[in-house]
Amino acid sequence: MDKLIHGIVAGGDARFYTAVTTATVTEAVLRHGTSPTTSAALGRMLTGAALLGASFKDFDRLTVKVEGSGPVGGITAEATKEGTVRGYVKNPSAEVPAAENGKFNVRGIIGEGTFYVIREFGFDIGFRPEPYIGSVPIVSGEIAEDFAYYLAKSEQIPSAVLLGVLLQNKEPYVTASGGVMIQMLPGANQHIVTMIEDTVSHAPHVTELIRNGAAPIDLAKMVLGELPFEVLEEREVSFKCTCSLERARTMIAALGRDEVESMLTEDKGAMMTCGFCNEIYQLSEEDLEEMLSTDGEALGEARDHV
Ligand code: ZN
Repeated sequence: MDKLIHGIVAGGDARFYTAVTTATVTEAVLRHGTSPTTSAALGRMLTGAALLGASFKDFDRLTVKVEGSGPVGGITAEATKEGTVRGYVKNPSAEVPAAENGKFNVRGIIGEGTFYVIREFGFDIGFRPEPYIGSVPIVSGEIAEDFAYYLAKSEQIPSAVLLGVLLQNKEPYVTASGGVMIQMLPGANQHIVTMIEDTVSHAPHVTELIRNGAAPIDLAKMVLGELPFEVLEEREVSFKCTCSLERARTMIAALGRDEVESMLTEDKGAMMTCGFCNEIYQLSEEDLEEMLSTDGEALGEARDHV
């Protein structure tokens, strides 16, 4: 099971979040059948969303989204406060040649555009306040820098973010995935900030460490160097979608009586694929007939769609 830890640097100058997300990203990549560069981009987004989600106190759903001019078209990653994530890309098979240094050209596949962070609330009380939406231009397209830029610009939190996905040519494709997010706290000692920046910029790739068996605590030791720290929380991270046959039914019913009738007569059933996890839901003729016969339930009524 993938893990994420959250802690504080002694003295309270910074808090940190580190995660190993190999299994989570593997599941996303297998479900979406993403190309190598798209897999790297999706994996970084999912890991970044998990780390950022751990750092926010109040929200029910966190959505991190890039919409860019590159061939991937856009990537969406969602995290819950419990640590589950899910995500999708517009064009899973999009691919671009490797960058000059031989690395995946994530910047090239994303292009120029906007980076969004959306926090939604109130899922448990049935009343949805307006979501909190922050957005910044994509400054790098390599994703980690975009998370850091967002934190600095929108949340006024100077930070350092590292996100990595290591891939191989055969299933399960993802050899290692994980990341680190360090957020400086107000009034942080400038000497400590400089030390952290220096250690982070010279740190080995997180994925190399993870491939060799590193846990989140080892990533923290690596990026914090000599600084003493305290772990405050450990949580599990996993890929989990909120779709279900029941939700598929609700969404089909919401299309309205005419639409359901034509599905019944023309298609003899209905099929729905969840965009977030590629799960396929089949509704039989009997399901649709039952939908049409339930008199009290107004078909086509807009419903909740978490
Ligand atoms: Zn799903």
